[in-house]
Amino acid sequence: MRTLSTVSWICWAPTSEHACTLYAYGRLPIPAAALDEPDFRGHMAGTMTNTSHTVPVSLGERSYDVRIGPGLLANAGAEIAPLLKRPYVPIITDRTVADLHLKTLEQSLAAAGIDSAPIILPPGESTKSFSHLEQVLSALLDAGVERTDMVVALGGGVIGDLAGFAAAILRRGVDFIQIPTTLLAQVDSSVGGKTAIDVTQGKNLVGAFHQPRLVVADTGVLSTLSPRELRAGYAEVVKYGLIDDADFFAWLETNGPALLSGDEELRAEAVKHSVAAKARVVAADERESGQRALLNLGHTFGHALETAAGYSGDLLHGEAVAAGMGIAFDVSAHLGLCPLTEAERAKAHLRATGLPAGIHDLEQRNSLDVPQADELIRLMGQDKKVSAGKITFILARGIGKSFIARDVDMDQVAQVLSKRQAA
Ligand code: NAD
Repeated sequence: MRTLSTVSWICWAPTSEHACTLYAYGRLPIPAAALDEPDFRGHMAGTMTNTSHTVPVSLGERSYDVRIGPGLLANAGAEIAPLLKRPYVPIITDRTVADLHLKTLEQSLAAAGIDSAPIILPPGESTKSFSHLEQVLSALLDAGVERTDMVVALGGGVIGDLAGFAAAILRRGVDFIQIPTTLLAQVDSSVGGKTAIDVTQGKNLVGAFHQPRLVVADTGVLSTLSPRELRAGYAEVVKYGLIDDADFFAWLETNGPALLSGDEELRAEAVKHSVAAKARVVAADERESGQRALLNLGHTFGHALETAAGYSGDLLHGEAVAAGMGIAFDVSAHLGLCPLTEAERAKAHLRATGLPAGIHDLEQRNSLDVPQADELIRLMGQDKKVSAGKITFILARGIGKSFIARDVDMDQVAQVLSKRQAA
């Protein structure tokens, strides 16, 4: 028997009955047999030091590591230095993050002998725009950034997506490093290489696949996030449980409230587990030609809601995803694909952590004026996952049993979207 503290932070290992058992933080020892199980799903990939953990994203020559743990920002310079051709990096960040965390990064770069220059943008989703992309590209060119230089993105998903896209197209592609500072960015957007901006026609419609060379996720910086932003990021954590990991969902049901109210160890565990899940999916399907689409659970509905809200602070991305996941479970139950009790359980957990689980919640709790079903369906028609005019949905047969659904009857979807009461 090896105890978890010497092996990994958390893992799901199959028991002899091929069920999955939760082992966490040395509360339960890991049976040696579990470590050798051939169909073990890779949750233990990676290495761990006392304070940090490394999850590799295996993509051949585009492979990179995700470093996770508290206090990593103060050591980022030493991590970044070996990747540089010359000791200089531009740092793209937003005003809020700059005020809180830029100095720590600059000092750690300076300690490693690296010069840096910040490009500071306004915070918020509206920064993921053509005009800010142009501003960033101009600033990078004015700063003399060369093809072999490295761009650093310090911030949430907005900064990561924008900086990553700028790096993808600057001089036909320069490398970049993600230093995600929101829960959402640490568990999702910084890993996997999707970069994009929003346009009036819809979200993330202009972008590129461009993998970072390194991700440094300092879980300590999450302590400066507002409770609302933390909750929004938590929606993407719940998503991993709902997609294919019922044990993780159950773990979140137990630990989610404490994680959200400040337990840093639980937070770090959730980040590590989520990154391992994302790394596994991305390694198997980098360009989303198959199973990576499952990561879009809640996003087809969510993006339509976000577009309707005008990418304003009235509806955060994670809140839209949470509502979208609730709708996906409602549609699945309405179509007879998913037991009603499972749909209710999924929505109950979202609501218990203060997230919206459907249109009713958005109207009542967030005071949003959500468009009618036909308008939402029109907005969904702009989704990147539309193929041959048909919208691809991610639906579920239960918690942890999501699947890609094509040819969904849109009248049935419209019926669910038209129900405005809490269901
Ligand atoms: P965000 O980047 O706007 O950050 C949210 C807010 O938190 C901002 O105001 C920011 O200034 C502030 N902030 C960031 N770090 C902070 C910290 N440590 N302390 C205090 N404040 C902090 O939003 P987000 O939720 O991180 O990201 C949402 C974006 O991510 C959306 O545009 C979404 O489309 C994108 N996304 C991309 C992918 C992908 O695969 N590329 C995946 C999921 C989401």
